[in-house]
Amino acid sequence: MENHFQQKTTKYIETLALKSKAVRDMYFYNSDFENIPIDVSRDVLLEKKNSPTKGLVHKFGNRAMMLLSYTCAANCRFCERQDRVGVGLDKFGHLSKKEIQKAVEYISMHEEINEVIFSGGDPLSNPSGLLFACTLLSKVSHVKIFRLHTKFPIQAPSKVKFELLKKIVKLVPVFYMSIHVNHPDELNEFTIPVLSKIRKLGFIMLSQTVFLKGINDNVDILKQLFKQLSEIGVRPYYIYHCTSIPTTQRFVMDIQREVDIMSSLREQLSGIAFPNHTIDLMGAVGKVIVPTNHWETVRNKVTDYNGMKIML
Ligand SMILES: *Cc1c(COP(=O)(O)O)cnc(C)c1O
Ligand code: SF4
Repeated sequence: MENHFQQKTTKYIETLALKSKAVRDMYFYNSDFENIPIDVSRDVLLEKKNSPTKGLVHKFGNRAMMLLSYTCAANCRFCERQDRVGVGLDKFGHLSKKEIQKAVEYISMHEEINEVIFSGGDPLSNPSGLLFACTLLSKVSHVKIFRLHTKFPIQAPSKVKFELLKKIVKLVPVFYMSIHVNHPDELNEFTIPVLSKIRKLGFIMLSQTVFLKGINDNVDILKQLFKQLSEIGVRPYYIYHCTSIPTTQRFVMDIQREVDIMSSLREQLSGIAFPNHTIDLMGAVGKVIVPTNHWETVRNKVTDYNGMKIML
């Protein structure tokens, strides 16, 4: 076991980091907390257990997730998949065409799957694989919804391949794109025009955020982030509790603190600027929604989608 999850940034991030502490903390390796071996056999989210073909995760009945690449433009220090990101699927970190074909065969045989989610790593790191997967899946009639989860426009805005995006959005009926963004410093004169341009190609734009201690654990910061996203046509979709693994401990927040922030945000934001606060349950199946303080609930007990009771 070794820590293979190296520091990796882009020129754009390096420049932004000069003036943003949040960006430095999200991307710069910190030996005080990360000098711990990473267990590559770890499966905290049961993704390996629920993988019928290489790179495919079928955990939630009607939707399947295809991990097209384990490479990202940059490595986030709080990444929940750092047992795989940076390790690679092939020498480029991508899912091969043959494996994509196998995953598509599985999806075509499972008519209950009406939604395919491209994730990773970053699916935009594997443009030819993405085009190949979309081309094959466009012929599978029960797949009606396509979704792509990416951080590429936020990590390497000048490298986004608009021609590719234009092609894939036309191939399929409905294409959602969820952008991973955590702090208002990441929305700027470089990234905003890129997001607007992608939206105008025909993608329905969503965002996902991770609660991060010391970075966005603050009502004003998140209010600014969600307000700004909704103003540029990106609908905040999820804000996650940071998955707790040995190397991410410094980012993991107290859930009640998160609930307090969300409750305050709900009082101040439009419904379209307010995301679902979610925990991807560890060792269980469920992305469960966390209620705000407006409801009186027992906070430390959760039931997963299979009825298993968990203490948080
Ligand atoms: C998050 C996730 C999905 C999508 O879940 P939604 O709640 O619909 O966003 C699908 N598959 C896996 C494995 C996931 O982790
Ligand atoms: S972009 Fe996503 S998958 Fe890639 S390192 Fe960051 S959190 Fe992990």
